[in-house]
Amino acid sequence: MKKGIHPEYKPCKVTCACGETFEVLSNKDEVTVEVCSKCHPFYTGKQSHTSRRGGVDKFNKKYGYNQEKTAN
Ligand SMILES: [Zn+2]
Repeated sequence: MKKGIHPEYKPCKVTCACGETFEVLSNKDEVTVEVCSKCHPFYTGKQSHTSRRGGVDKFNKKYGYNQEKTAN
């Protein structure tokens, strides 16, 4: 890689809405995510408080994966 044109990658602390934290390499110091591998329904096998209305919910609704009723 050429020097000076690429962002410097450093350990980045990722904080999830479920409280899980882990580190990745990024050009940011810290990022916050709403879902991680520890709390994502795909891995936990259940819906959790981290479920938000949005793209994922729309997807779940469309394909009937979401058992919860949404206000929308
Ligand atoms: Zn999480």
